Parts: sequence; C-alpha cells; structure tokens
Amino acid sequence: MVSEKANQIGESPTLKVSGKAKAMKAAGIDILDLSVGEPDFPTPENVKSAGILAIEENFTKYTQNDGIPLLKEAIISRLKDDCGLDYDMTEVIVSTGAKSSLYHLIQALVNEGDEVIIPAPYWVSYPHSVALAKGKSVIVPTREEDGFLMRPDDLRSVISPATKALILNNPSNPTGAAYSRHQLEALAEVIEEEDICVIADEIYSKLVYDDFQFVSFASLGEEIKKKTIVVNGVSKSYSMTGWRIGFAAGPADIIKGMAKIQSHTTSNPCSVSQMASLEALTGPQHEISKMIAEFQRRRNYALTRLRSIPNVSCFEPQGAFYLFPNFSAFYDKEFNNARIRNSYGLAYFLLKEAHVAIVPGDAFGADHCIRMSYATSMENIEKALDRIMEALPRLKTAKRAKHISLNNAVTHHKKTAPVDSSISVQMRDALIAEMESHLSYDNYFEWNANINGVIIQLRTNVSHLYDFWMENWYPAQLEADLEPHGIIYAVDNIPGREPRAFYNTDTKTGVLINTDNYGPLRSLALGLVMDLSERLFSVHAVRGMVADVGGRGVALIGPKGTKKTELFFSLLKDPRFRLHTNDLAFVRYSGSDAVADSVERKLFIPTNAVETYPRMAPLFDNSKCENIIHHKESCQNENCLQLDDCRLDRGSPFCYKASKEAFALLDPYWIEGPAKHIKRTRLRWILLLRHDKTSPPLVKAEPADALRILEHGELVGARREPGPSGSQPFYNPHLLVSTPERQEFQRSFFRRLLESTECYLFNSGVAAPENILEILAGENNKDKKATVQTEDQ
Ligand code: PMP
Repeated sequence: MVSEKANQIGESPTLKVSGKAKAMKAAGIDILDLSVGEPDFPTPENVKSAGILAIEENFTKYTQNDGIPLLKEAIISRLKDDCGLDYDMTEVIVSTGAKSSLYHLIQALVNEGDEVIIPAPYWVSYPHSVALAKGKSVIVPTREEDGFLMRPDDLRSVISPATKALILNNPSNPTGAAYSRHQLEALAEVIEEEDICVIADEIYSKLVYDDFQFVSFASLGEEIKKKTIVVNGVSKSYSMTGWRIGFAAGPADIIKGMAKIQSHTTSNPCSVSQMASLEALTGPQHEISKMIAEFQRRRNYALTRLRSIPNVSCFEPQGAFYLFPNFSAFYDKEFNNARIRNSYGLAYFLLKEAHVAIVPGDAFGADHCIRMSYATSMENIEKALDRIMEALPRLKTAKRAKHISLNNAVTHHKKTAPVDSSISVQMRDALIAEMESHLSYDNYFEWNANINGVIIQLRTNVSHLYDFWMENWYPAQLEADLEPHGIIYAVDNIPGREPRAFYNTDTKTGVLINTDNYGPLRSLALGLVMDLSERLFSVHAVRGMVADVGGRGVALIGPKGTKKTELFFSLLKDPRFRLHTNDLAFVRYSGSDAVADSVERKLFIPTNAVETYPRMAPLFDNSKCENIIHHKESCQNENCLQLDDCRLDRGSPFCYKASKEAFALLDPYWIEGPAKHIKRTRLRWILLLRHDKTSPPLVKAEPADALRILEHGELVGARREPGPSGSQPFYNPHLLVSTPERQEFQRSFFRRLLESTECYLFNSGVAAPENILEILAGENNKDKKATVQTEDQ
C-alpha cells in the first residue's frame, strides 16, 4: 500500500536512538540523554506571555498564508540589524518551522534529476528532502583536519551542468563548524561563476562562541544575495522548538513558489506561534546571551574531557550545541563477544553500558564520529562523560578482525508467486512470446540442470536466480543440442504484472514472472520434475526430512508447526545418524526397497534456523544467501524486536533471524563433514507428525490409515493459514498438478511406500526424540536377532 517514495525514506536515526533511550528511561533506567537537538532552556517568559495573549485575544484563526505582515516585518528588520541584509515583504515567507521552509524551498527549486550539493557531515533531513523532490544529492565529504569546512576546490570539482543548488549549513549540525567571512567569500567566488543557488541554513546563526562573528552568506554581495535563500527560525535561538516557526528570505520568485506549495501543504504557520515569535524577534534579546554563555561553558568542559580520552579526537566547534568527536579507534573492539563495527555499534554500546544516549555519526554521513549534544545540564554532561570514560575500557580488542561480506545477500524480497498449473497450450504460447520479448540479449542467462535424471532448462534475466540455480543443481551433460525435458522461464521487471507462476503439463513449461526470489523458482522446478518423473520413470517425491541410520532411512513427514525441524536436528546430534534431505526425497522401488535419493547439491534452508542452531551461523556466512536483512527497520522478527539485544543495533551488517524469508543454500557436507551426509538411503520408517496435547505419543499406523492421513494432508498445528481447502495433499507444497489421474498416481506410489516401510504417528506435543530412537533401537535388535539366526544356520 505504501508508496515507494515513503518506503525509500528511513526513520530518522536521531529519533531512533532517542526512542530507544526513552524506552529505557520509561523502564526506570537512569539514561543521560546527549542525543537532543533542542536547547534545554524554557522559552523566555515574555515570549510565552505573547502566545498566551494571542490566545486570549482570539488570534486563533487562519492568517495570511506566508505569515502575518507584522512578523514578516520583524524578520526583515532582524535580518537587517543582525546581518545587514535588505529584503522587502515579497522576499520573505514564514513557515511551520525551518524544516518546513527547507522542504518547500527544495520542492520549489529542484526538478527531477537536478543535483544538490551537500557537504558532509550534514543534517539528516537534507538528502531526504532532495530525494522527495526527485533530485540527486551530491555528498561532498569534509575533513576533521579542515575543521569540517568545505574547501572551494572540492565545491568546484562537483559542480556539473545538472547542479541546481548547494546547501550550506552554517553553523553546522552536527559538527558545530562555522565559516568565517573569509572562508565564505572563497566559496562565494566559486558560486558567482556558476548558475546555481545557495540554500543557506543559518538556523544556529545566533549560537556562536568565543566572539565568533557570524556572517550570513547572502550578505556577501548583491550577486550572491540574488542566488541565496536564507533559512532561519526561532527554534534554536529562542528555545522555541515546539512552537514551529521558521522563515526563508530570498528572491521573490522563489519565495512565491514556496508560498504556492505551502498554501497546499500547511497553509499559514500557527497563528499563536507567530505572535509569540513576533515578541521573540522584537522584544528583549538578553536571554540569548545568557544561553550562549551557558552553552559555551558546557562546550569548553565537554571538549576538554573528550580530548582527554585516549584515541579520541574532537574538533572545537564555534557554534550550535553539538560536539562531533571521532571515536573510530573503538570500532572493531568487542564487548561480551559482540563486535562494535561502526558508529551505530558504539551508540548502542554507550546506551547499554554507560546509559548515555548519543547519535551515531553515520546518520550525518560521517561514520567515524558520534554526535553529542550539550543542550543538557552541566551536571548531566559531567555524569555522562564519567560514565563514558568508565565504560570504554571495558571494550576489548577483537579476537577476529575479519569482516564477513555475504555472498548474494542483497536480494530484493518480492512476494511469493502463486502458481496456476492449469493453463492451456495457447496461453502457454502467449506467455512464452511475452517472456521472450523481455529477455534481452545483453541480460540473458541459460543453464540446464539435471534434477534426478530430468533435464530442466532455465531461461532467465535474473542473474541472482541463475547463480542460485547453478549452485543448487547438478549440471546436465554438456551437449549443445541437448533437448531438455522441461523449460522454465523466470523473467523479472515486466511492467504491470504481479509476481505469478504458471505451468503447462503437456509442454512441460514453467513460467515465473516478476520475482527474483529463488524459493518460487526452486519449487516450480521440483514440481515440474515430480510431474515428469512420475509419468516417465515411476519415481515419485516424498516431502519430508530424511535421516539415514546404517543405510536405512527415517522420514519425518508433517505440516508446519509440528516441530519437524527441531526433531530432525536432534536426531542428527546422534552420531549414528546421517543427513539425507531437509525437504524432498525422490523415491523409486526396487523389490521391497524404497530407494530414496536426495537430488539437490545444497540445502535450501531458512537462515532463522540459527535461533535453534547457532552453530549454523558461520556456515551461512560462507553460503549464498537471499533476503538477508541489513537494516533494523526491515526486521520482521517480532519476538526479537521486543528484546533489547539486537545485533543490527550493535553495528552488525546483517541478521539471520530478522526474516522468515531469508534463506541460504547450505552445503550439506559442511554440517559436520562428509561422513554426516548421504545421498541415497532405503526408507525404512515413516513418522507422520502431529502436535497436540491429547493424542498418544507414538502409535503404529496401519498403511490404509496412514495413506488417508497423508492424502488428506491436514494442516494440523500449522502456524500459517491453510490453503483454501485447509489441506495440502501429501504435505507437499511443490506438487503442481492435481488432476484425478495425478492423484491416483500419488495414491499408488504412497501405498507402495507404506507397504515398504513401517509407519508411526508421532505426536511431538508429548513425545520426545528418544521415542524415535526407541523404534529404531527395537528394529535394530530384531534385525540383530535375525542376523544371528542366519549366521547359526
Ligand atoms: N536545520 C538544521 C541544521 C537543524 O538542526 C534543524 C533542527 N534540528 C532545522 C533546520 C529545523 O528547525 P525547525 O525546528 O525550525 O524546523
């Protein structure tokens, strides 16, 4: 439902950290919050009174869209008195906060594809605002050793014909860096030569220290003024963040464009707040000097303390109320065996271990630093720095310094593709024609797989599917004119089509549209092979997990929710058991033997298996994976989200538990070596799983009863919604065709299977893996006796 535009925008990282800090505070933990972005002083009394008066005098209706004239006049005289700038009433607009001015300004300036230069570290909202206007942010890193100021040459080097604007935040959030007149003039020289404008975000203009002389970019000359739009507001200078008043001043046509947009978004800013802001700008200004003196005292203290921490450097800011120290020397250290990898990891460590909230520098495009706000009491700053200095030595040098980069992990997850397996040959022909028209020669992959003797050709435009396909199957023999038994088209990026799969049994053609996920492709291939091998080779497929013990196989068959995986892996802990398949065995009959083959080279296995088997994690690290979650916002694991120990928070680049859709192609030989995996077994025992509190743990099942249960395939204990019929014949989701003829095939195959094996109903709600071992042990003893008797004879 949500638009791509909205999906593209991440939650503000600043809010994320403060959200977590708030939750910890609510849980009674004494958190010191240095992540704040607003002065900790109250709004001055005279300003509050003006707001109250406005309410009492019923100044509570719509006002002029671009702000009341009195306030615009006050803004004009402030800009004149403070910066020497001359504007008229058509050149000023009042908005609902400077953020709103900036958003409307960027919308008014930027066309699709226009480039906007943003020096980094930058305030988090700039790139998002540019993206919402379909512009392109061109990020220009600045250096700590240059005082985080952009060099004129760096600016010149990124200007292109597509450049529309430069956003210059002076003084800067997050670094506190401020440009002197001389430094601004050097940038202005570059701007003068070019046809671009400057968005001068001067919201912190009044908060400068050590007698630093703030200079507005627009004041550098008439030509520059024509190219500059100054953005400012009352939020920071008058401690009025909640009142939401900001403004912009610049060329009349741009201001008019902003006003038009504003008239359709917020309309006028709050009437009461406008009156309060009028008082702020025109009334006594001494509160600002008090605030500046206090901020400067805190800045000096915090700076000295930070600089005394070994391996931390910190630039001395001239403005705003943030410090931006470099803590990168602590990345790659470990705490409680968890590695800190980046500024998020460090932020998480400081929150958990020092109970201090800061903002990771990555949020501002500078991962080596963190942002600490000193807009909190001196007492809090002292305590916070004590706690940080006490916590840091608990970080130990990491044992392994190797970074893991996953193979193929960045697959875009798309919905599963429902299969229509009853399409006519005509429809198949039409589909093939459509698919082929989308398979361009420069992005076409083809590969023949040999799946249990059935040759399936994949034709695709998705390199990820091609990659997984080749990894998963044995190759067919290399012959140029080899005629495959079946063909699958997997074609992505077809406009206007939902993810869907189709199958035509007469022509043995599968079609998979608009999904780049391997799961649906694998399932379609298996379904196609089952259809063919039942008819051509009298081989059928058994959906279940199979383990081998001494050459005989035990198959666990049942729906989701019956703890099949847990049982299976507990069996494998026993050294006598070997892994055969975790999903599907192809079975043929030889005399009374049901010979089961595992036909895939790899196990296609959900990576959240690490919840039960953490030792799988290093194996997945080396496997091809898909849909691995990299960002906390994409985590779908509700149980995990409630916990307070998230590896993504700690800076890990990915998480195996975050999604049920994340899969790995795991080499079965890696699970405890080649001796633990076998490709062929003779099925001896079938365990039909159910999960409830009342049925007996283990009951021997008569073949006729077992067949009925299997055929009905009831989704007992299923966690997922059952299909429309509430059942899944033979618990096999890969089965494609369910014609009466095919059903009869299945029935006869399973009848044969149940004659060749012993079948038990196993209630995992009350029984334990040991019960399985008992059946097998009983059988072993019987066999042993038989063997002894034979030997005696
Ligand atoms: N620009 C910068 C650089 C800021 O730091 C902020 C507030 N954090 C704003 C603009 C927006 O201010 P306002 O509260 O007026 O919307």
